[in-house]
Amino acid sequence: ILSIPSNSLLKRNHVAPIIMKSVTVNRDQKIQAERLLLPIVSEEQAIVETVLIHPVVIICGETGSGKTTQLPQFLYEAGFGSQGSGVFLFPCILKLPFIQAKLENPGIIGITQPRRVAAMSTASRVAVELGLASSRVAYQIRYDATVSPSTIIKFMTDGVLLRELTTDFLLSKYSIIIIDEAHERSMNTDILIGALSRIVKLRQSMWEQKKEGIKPLRLIIMSATLRVDDFISNTTLFSVPPPVINISARQYPVTTHFSRHTSADYISEAVRKVSQIHTKLPPGGILVFLTGQNEIIGVCRKLQARFGRKLKGGPSEKPTVPKNIGPAESPFSAIQDNSETMWIPLADVEAEEIELGDGALDVDLNIDLEDESDDVRDPDDSMTDIEEMPMHVIPLYSLLPSEKQLEVFKEPPARSRLVVVATNIAETSLTIPNIRYVVDCGRAKERKYDSRSGIESFSVSWISKAAAAQRSGRAGRTGPGHCYRLYSSALYENYFDEFAQPEILRVPIEGVVLQMKAMNIDTVINFPFPTPPDRDNLKRAERVLINLGALEDKGNGLTSITNLGKAMAIFPLSPRFSKVLVSAKQNQCLPFAIAIVSALSIGDPFIRPEHFSTSENQQGTGKDEAGVGKPRLGAFYASQQLHGSLGGGISDVFRYLSVVGAYEFAGEDSDFCMEHFVRPKAMEEIHKLRIQLSNIIQINFPEIGVGTLKLNKPPDPTQASHFFSVQVLSLSTPPQLRVLRQLLAAAFIDQVAVRKDIVDNSSSDGNKYTSCRNVPYKALGVSDDVFIHPSSILYNSPPPDFIVFHEMSKTTQTWLKTNTIINPAWLPKLAPSLCSTSKRVKTFDGKVLIVPRFGPELWELPAIREAENK
Ligand code: ADP
Ligand code: MG
Repeated sequence: ILSIPSNSLLKRNHVAPIIMKSVTVNRDQKIQAERLLLPIVSEEQAIVETVLIHPVVIICGETGSGKTTQLPQFLYEAGFGSQGSGVFLFPCILKLPFIQAKLENPGIIGITQPRRVAAMSTASRVAVELGLASSRVAYQIRYDATVSPSTIIKFMTDGVLLRELTTDFLLSKYSIIIIDEAHERSMNTDILIGALSRIVKLRQSMWEQKKEGIKPLRLIIMSATLRVDDFISNTTLFSVPPPVINISARQYPVTTHFSRHTSADYISEAVRKVSQIHTKLPPGGILVFLTGQNEIIGVCRKLQARFGRKLKGGPSEKPTVPKNIGPAESPFSAIQDNSETMWIPLADVEAEEIELGDGALDVDLNIDLEDESDDVRDPDDSMTDIEEMPMHVIPLYSLLPSEKQLEVFKEPPARSRLVVVATNIAETSLTIPNIRYVVDCGRAKERKYDSRSGIESFSVSWISKAAAAQRSGRAGRTGPGHCYRLYSSALYENYFDEFAQPEILRVPIEGVVLQMKAMNIDTVINFPFPTPPDRDNLKRAERVLINLGALEDKGNGLTSITNLGKAMAIFPLSPRFSKVLVSAKQNQCLPFAIAIVSALSIGDPFIRPEHFSTSENQQGTGKDEAGVGKPRLGAFYASQQLHGSLGGGISDVFRYLSVVGAYEFAGEDSDFCMEHFVRPKAMEEIHKLRIQLSNIIQINFPEIGVGTLKLNKPPDPTQASHFFSVQVLSLSTPPQLRVLRQLLAAAFIDQVAVRKDIVDNSSSDGNKYTSCRNVPYKALGVSDDVFIHPSSILYNSPPPDFIVFHEMSKTTQTWLKTNTIINPAWLPKLAPSLCSTSKRVKTFDGKVLIVPRFGPELWELPAIREAENK
């Protein structure tokens, strides 16, 4: 047992250690043989020693080198995680404090993953490799866990560890934390690394002061690519740069082929390319990168129908559709999850007609060698005529049930070709064996934030060059491979960023600040972010949160989270929208509030004249979605009148509410959208988001019934507009309508606009407004006059005194969109932080009136009697 390995760091430092493994593991022979092939195994000695000497260590290694599955095992065998005395190293010469620390330092080995799939699948893999029960090598993701008091290795999503920080900031049950996939720079990972940089120091100094029960904590940051500069050179993060261990992996050459042109229809292109590879090239797995579940299911169906094993007859089990998709791990990712609520087991997919597009399967055998490789070439440059072999098609995306996800690791049926169609989950999180060909669409679904509208969305955008390299690398794990990029090299050179931007710079900063406050991180401005967001933006975000009542101003620049803020932090939404939901319990307003928030998040569902052109030769973009062709122009103009009549003349948001109610009544399959010139895609998304939000509320606040949008039968179904007569508006009570307007005022309290003549007592024409938000516009040299946008129902009515707006847009003038009339008397109650009540006036009859003033410019609101105010 006593040996001094040749690559021992201590030996190099002329220290003679005696190393013995503290835990013996009897692995299955086959597993042991597989392990020995992993590049990381030869570095075990160096890694364990470095981890012992340094509190923070960075490990970089190519995907598939064994980081995620092996590192926890090295640490376990070295004595981490064990309950007993983990003696493994006696320093003969040096008496270093860390040695003692280790001896007294049992505690869980924690590993975080950005994705649930990876947390679950690696936990079960490591349990098998170590021959331990799933309660000992466990996982914990939101709403599902196998952890028990005997857990020694715990895989979890980064969201889970962040939540643990809120109850135990010292993370005292852990002896070591591994942050995996740090190169992805997810917001959660970045915040965790920042927080852990402080916790490691704190635990060390508390241990040195011999605080009861406190042991040092170690931190390992693992990353796939070599972009670790942000962690090493950032001295606010780590005052001493942590050592970096590079795992050199065997990577076979991968030939990259760009397409000549970039087709917008990358889905058909992917099917075409896979078909070509399958029919023309030698055996070897194909990994296809697409952006989301629906695409993946579609492509899998087509490939299965064309090349899959013929399906056996007989009754098959019905596709399981998860009923309640819980909220996603990342506090903001629910909207994405929402678009992907279903999976379909391929075995149940009936053979359907294949639509592969023109010439999809005619592979041009006369390949022009000058060609910029929009072709599929045999790696050995000789066409091989392979016998027909069935395809074994497997989908892989994050919401796929875990047992289905594990399929990728199973041996495919003999004499078949494995084809995995995946999201970027297969980029680094999971290593799929035996992939020889990669087909890369070059896109990924990304969280986007529109700072103008304050709305977050998920949209498909180009990946970075680093991600493209990761994707092609997947083809070179077991032998030389080929990567077919479904985009041109010109596009790649000119439009792909070197690296993806850290998520923290892409999301609404108010949400980040609120999440951090909910984790009891008090000084967000001085927080050691790996890549810090702009300080002014952080300050502004704190201000917005104070105005929303989520934070309390403690003076001296200190703020703390309120109970309202804690409740708001639960929702995967911009804090404004969370505020609408958490305050909507009163007067049974919740189902309406859910519908409003969903509609506002998705955006204007009405098709308006500017959406299409009425000119002779062009039928415009509106046609795509609602079929507004020339013959239907009459109907379209009639619908415009109907759209304008909704909302009870007080709120554009209520128009949205009406259309949501009408759509739900009509049912998804009806011609409602077509007939009434409403965007079907928007309505579908609103519908899904409503379900998602209802689920989140039910799970987090089971005591609150979310209610339903109850709809009655239309009074006169023969009328053309009968659908719209089923307005939610007419079903809600006047107090409910008032509460809903108050909720909107509360959520957009810093987006109040007042008619200008009221502020300056001018006798202007009365359609100019001035807004609390116009300060930055002034700075830009824009006139501070703002106007109600023609799309608003308030445009043609007498201009109201006070409104809240949801969106400001600038053309030649600054417009307010999606407006709601509010009563200024509500403001002092809804936004004490924005109001002053210091001005008092005596009336002629001797009574004292308080004049509340509102906003940074302190507009005067209608006076209230002192007695009433009390
Ligand atoms: P890294 O984290 O460095 O990317 P991993 O530790 O994830 O590497 O993977 C190491 C090897 O273990 C890979 O060959 C991978 O295919 C295999 N592997 C990982 N998870 C599983 C699993 N659940 N079942 C079978 N093999 C797995
Ligand atoms: Mg890994």
